[in-house]
Amino acid sequence: MDIEAVIPNQKIPMNDLGAQYLRYESEIDSAIENVIQSGQFIKGSKVTEFEANLAEFLDKSHVITCGNGTDALQIALMALDLKEGDEIITTPFTFAATAEVIGLLRLKPVFVDIRPDTFCIDETKIEEAITSSTRCIIPVHLFGTHANMEVIMEIAHRHHLYVIEDAAQSLGAEYQFSDGRKCQSGTMGHIGTTSFFPSKNLGCYGDGGALITRDFLLAEKIRMICNHGARKKYYHEMIGVNSRLDAIQAAILDVKLKYLNQDIQSRMAAGEYYNQLLAQKSDIICPSGLQNSTHTYHQYTIRVKNRQEVQEKLRYSEISSMIYYPVSLHTQPAFTFAGQSGITFNETEKACGEVLSLPIYPDITREQIKKIAQTL
Ligand SMILES: *Cc1c(COP(=O)(O)O)cnc(C)c1O
Repeated sequence: MDIEAVIPNQKIPMNDLGAQYLRYESEIDSAIENVIQSGQFIKGSKVTEFEANLAEFLDKSHVITCGNGTDALQIALMALDLKEGDEIITTPFTFAATAEVIGLLRLKPVFVDIRPDTFCIDETKIEEAITSSTRCIIPVHLFGTHANMEVIMEIAHRHHLYVIEDAAQSLGAEYQFSDGRKCQSGTMGHIGTTSFFPSKNLGCYGDGGALITRDFLLAEKIRMICNHGARKKYYHEMIGVNSRLDAIQAAILDVKLKYLNQDIQSRMAAGEYYNQLLAQKSDIICPSGLQNSTHTYHQYTIRVKNRQEVQEKLRYSEISSMIYYPVSLHTQPAFTFAGQSGITFNETEKACGEVLSLPIYPDITREQIKKIAQTL
């Protein structure tokens, strides 16, 4: 009998949060129930506990949770005493949040092209973008692997610049410096930021984010900014914001954090299986990272020349796929104020025209990956 005929064709989604929930359903349910019974929905011990556990995971850095990953980036910039017009170097091939907060704070984004292999900022092009107004570099560790942090930190040190790592997609990835030092993603710059948006490597069931720093004084200041610029209630030392992770989300994240390494291992195995199956296909370029960084495959992003055709074929077989990201930020109306819309970033524009992200999540099966590879 034809197996295909009796087993209905299962759709393959980009992500399957339901399957993940089922793995630790009872633990999550009781964590949520405990918060409800405690009545401590804002701040409180559950948030502190999660911050301490995540800090432990992140090489004992300081962790300050906040409302979402975009807030985390904004708060990071607010903590650096910058002034209007100061220049922030970043990548145009990222989610808009990275550059948006720069504009929101009346700072100036200076975009630098990406590397074709990692899709991250091209470290060899950073120095020529530095001026006397440059204050900070924001590398984005796109799709779950790292920008070249060794070179970026060296450039920053030499030019007295801050580095904010946007680790929204790379939490759990590991980077090794040439002296052998191994670091968790987000712990290498002056500040790291991350997001707990449901689909991220460590996701909650709503919005959430965090800032990471090894600097105690910066940590204190960040905590104050998150809390209306106050260290002590009703005593405001500076202009801050209201941005906090709620206790129910913290409780959910605290459960999921225990399985983060395991989930990342599953993502890596899935990514490597894709690589293996797609290696022979000459018209598909598989994602690759730096030799000295793990790739957590937050996204599994290939390059194809005939993308529209490929995406239609996948859709016909009920396989999801997404384009992250179709348009470079520097050409978008929101960013014309940066004054770079006339520049051509060859690698970014090429990537925008070729990238296609395929389904990947800890619970994806080898059969599903095989079906996707065969369809491709
Ligand atoms: C998701 C994401 C953000 C923003 O996170 P939110 O929690 O959605 O605000 C920022 N930068 C990158 C690279 C992201 O992928």
